[in-house]
Formats: sequence, C-alpha cells, structure tokens
Amino acid sequence: MAQNLAGALDTLKRTFGFSAFRGVQSQVVDRVLDRRSTLAVMPTGAGKSLCYQLPALMLDGTCVVVSPLIALMHDQLRSAEANGISAATLTSVDENRAETVQRLRDGDLDLLYVAPERASQPHFRELLSQCRIALFAIDEAHCVSEWGHDFRPDYRLLAPMMDAFPQVPRLALTATADAHTRADILTQLGIPEDGLIVAGFDRPNIRYHITPRDSLARQIQQIMDAQPGPGIVYAPTRAATERLAETLGRSGRETRCYHAGLPPETRARNQHDFVASESMVMVATVAFGMGIDKPDVRFVIHAGLPKSIEAYYQETGRAGRDGDPSVAHLFWGADDFARARMRLGEMGEDRIAGERTRLGALGALVETAGCRRAILLRHFGESPPETCGNCDNCLSPPKSIDATVIAQKYLSAVARTRQMFGAGYVESILTGQSTDRSRQNGHESLSVFGIVEGEEAAMLKPVSRALQVRGALLPTEHGGLMLGPDARAFLKGEVPLDLVLPPRRQRTKRR
Ligand code: ADP
Ligand code: ZN
Repeated sequence: MAQNLAGALDTLKRTFGFSAFRGVQSQVVDRVLDRRSTLAVMPTGAGKSLCYQLPALMLDGTCVVVSPLIALMHDQLRSAEANGISAATLTSVDENRAETVQRLRDGDLDLLYVAPERASQPHFRELLSQCRIALFAIDEAHCVSEWGHDFRPDYRLLAPMMDAFPQVPRLALTATADAHTRADILTQLGIPEDGLIVAGFDRPNIRYHITPRDSLARQIQQIMDAQPGPGIVYAPTRAATERLAETLGRSGRETRCYHAGLPPETRARNQHDFVASESMVMVATVAFGMGIDKPDVRFVIHAGLPKSIEAYYQETGRAGRDGDPSVAHLFWGADDFARARMRLGEMGEDRIAGERTRLGALGALVETAGCRRAILLRHFGESPPETCGNCDNCLSPPKSIDATVIAQKYLSAVARTRQMFGAGYVESILTGQSTDRSRQNGHESLSVFGIVEGEEAAMLKPVSRALQVRGALLPTEHGGLMLGPDARAFLKGEVPLDLVLPPRRQRTKRR
C-alpha cells in the first residue's frame, strides 16, 4: 500500500504538478491501485478526475471513463491532454473514431471517454475484449439510481457490460448522493460496501442565507450591491431568466443570460465572457455552471426552490471554489412548494416516494430556526456541530414562536369559506375587514370573522406559508386555498406549528 502511494505521489508531482493529495484523493487512488472497486463521493471541486487519471497513468492498460455529457467529456479531454495524458473521446461528434479505435487496440491510450449509451452496446464490449483494460471509471454515478435526481436508464446497462470483465476494477464517482442513493449505486454497479469513500462536504467559506421571497428583484439587487465580484442567479424558467436579467441589468452592472433556448453561439459567448469577467452577473437556468471552472464566483442566488438538497448543495457549491468568502442566497415562496406538490400528482407511482422525501427535506431546510449548514451536512451523512457561525440563522438567530392557535384559526377560516378563496380574502375575513364581497358572501356572520387582532395579523402570511410547506394547505386551480391531507392534525391540535420569524432585513439594508 505504502509503495502504491509513494509511486503515486511521484506521478502526482511530475505529471500533474501538485505537491500533495487533497482530502480523500489518496485513499481513493490507493484502493484503485490495489485494483479494488470503489465508490468515491466527493463534492464538486474536490478533484474527482485525478482519482482515475492518475491510476490510468500508473496501471497497465486503458482506463475507460463513462461520462454522461459530451460537452463535459471534451473539457475533460482537453485538461487530460494538457497534463500530457494520452487520451481520446469516442462519441458521435468525433470524426476521428477509426483512429481512436486503432489507438485503443494498440494500447496507446491511458484514458478513453465514452457516453453510457455507447459503453453499453454489444460491439463496444466486443472491442474492449480485444484490448487491455485497466479500470472502469463511472463519472456522475448517481445517474444509475432512481433515487438520485438525474436517473439515466443507460447507466443500468453498464454493470452487465463490466461483468464481462471481472478482473477490471470499477471506480464510481459522484458529487451528489444521500445515504439511500449511495447504497443503490453500490448495488447497481456491483461495488462492495467497504469500497465506499466519502469526502467531507463542508464548504466553510460559503455563507448560507435562506429567505422568503417578497420583492425578488429588489432582494437580489441588494445582494449585488454588496458583492462586486462575479455571481450567478438561478431562475426556474427561461422566461424568468430573461426577465430578471433585463431588470437587474438596469442597475448598470453587466448582466447576461444563459439557458438552453439561446442560440449556441450566444451561450458560448456568454459563458466565455463570464469566466473571464471579474464582475459579471449571469442569470441562468441550472443548465449553467456544470463543468465551468471559475474559482472566483462570489455569490450564487436561487430565485426559487431548487430541485433537492443535493441540487442546492451542488449549485451553491459553484461559489467560492478559490476558498475566499462567498455567499449563497435562496429566495423561496409557498408557491414553489405548491407547484412541486402539483407535479407529484403527475408522476408515476415509483417516483412519488422519492420526490416527497426530497420536498420534505427542502421544507425542513428553508423553515429551520437552526443551522443551515448542519442540515446540509447531516443530509450527506456527516455529524456536524449544532452551529456553524456562518449562516443566516447562526449569525442572527431567528425568533421561533408557537403559532398553533393562529394556524387553527386560519384553517377554520378556509374551511368556513368553503375552500373557495385565496389568501388575501381569507386574511381579510380573519382580520374582520368589512367589504362588499364579505357582505355579499354572508361571511361577516361567521365565527372566524375578525378573530385575529393586533400583532397576530402580521403573522398570517408566514402562517399561511408554513401551512403550505407542510401540505396542510393546498392551492386550487382557481388561485384559492383548500385544506390538504395534513390539515386535520393541526385543527385537532395533534400537531403544533412552531413558526420561525425571519429577523428584519436591516443587516442587508444598511451597508
Ligand atoms: P471535481 O470533478 O471533483 O469537481 P476536478 O477534478 O475538476 O473536480 O478538480 C477541481 C480542481 O482541483 C481542478 O482545477 C484540479 O486541477 C484541482 N486539483 C485536483 N487535485 C488537486 C491536488 N491534489 N492539488 C491541487 N489541486 C488539485
Ligand atoms: Zn449555521
């Protein structure tokens, strides 16, 4: 073992020009050089590529790398070649395929990058059986799991292909895998349990902030004003990226837009300019950022709820790769949860359980009065301290109050008005505002009319939001609110509602 690493360290210095391994890299490389199958879970930027590139140089034969995106493959090829590694890609867009196959046969390649749909074809297996293969590296290995957020059926065909080469070790790599997904990857790819190596996920230089959305553009503008360095704003749709880019651009800060609907030249130019810039703001869909090596991104803003905790971690992880202080801001609304719940209804049975768990975890993250980082790290199987000192809740602990009674009043008002009205109307009934509408509907004689007074009135919006996050209130097609499956437990007093009141925003306002 020690011998492995002595040789590896030498190659690390000579070929890659690095003086030491980072984090779990040495553990992973050591196992791979021992030809034992491994799953390495390492956050973005931790240096996953080196874990197979270095063994590929040291082991006899070619390392076959399965990677899901052709664009990423070509980036990786360039960086491997820049390190003097003999490498090639075999994809539908490569015109030199015959030459690559010849180089593979001649044993001239250290690395061969292929897409999963090619790797799983019978004639590719046939080709490999005529060559000397040192290692299978499976990048973005969470794609093999239906529990992961990015399932790709082609990944399921990799195990049978690799089974034809029982003597070749496997190295699966991913940045995003909760405990459930990890176990699934091990099973699906035939890697023993003791082959799991997990790197520390903490990104101490990133400060997490999570805030309900009210006036989004103004909220984002305040962060931009405080952060002159480059930043990314993630918006949920193409249209939203364009609208926001337009609004934010009016402040004079160079602001560009990126989404899959733009012409390829525009996308390439915007990405190129962003990487080169020291102040640009990119408003983008989450398609932007993968495979971009820009270490000095100072802020990442989410204008809406991300898909999962993994996605949130990965997207915010694009900030501060250089280790300097950076911020991640998430702005969420009850409607984000409402929409996600509606989508649940359109999903196949097999996916609902996973999606519901993901949504629940996001709800706990945005609504906690505790440390955000602790929630993130626990999600990745770590045991972090209770407080981190570098997230919104640790820096100014929010007040948490018992809002059970107000929640019951709210749900009663929705029930008594026959689940036909929106939040604004329900609030006006609760606070006893007499209007033509309330008179015509006969709602002024309801027992809930005017039962919320004084300070309680200010809590109606957060209560409504919290009930929606918890599935006790659901939106109707007509913009109204109706009782959800979890409303009963609140109404009967079986479940309390502890409400987190965000501290006032004087911190960001001052500056
Ligand atoms: P990942 O795929 O995990 O996101 P990469 O493989 O792209 O990460 O590596 C991220 C960056 O870290 C690259 O610029 C790489 O050159 C650098 N890097 C990797 N290993 C080391 C090391 N041992 N020492 C210094 N830099 C490293
Ligand atoms: Zn914290």
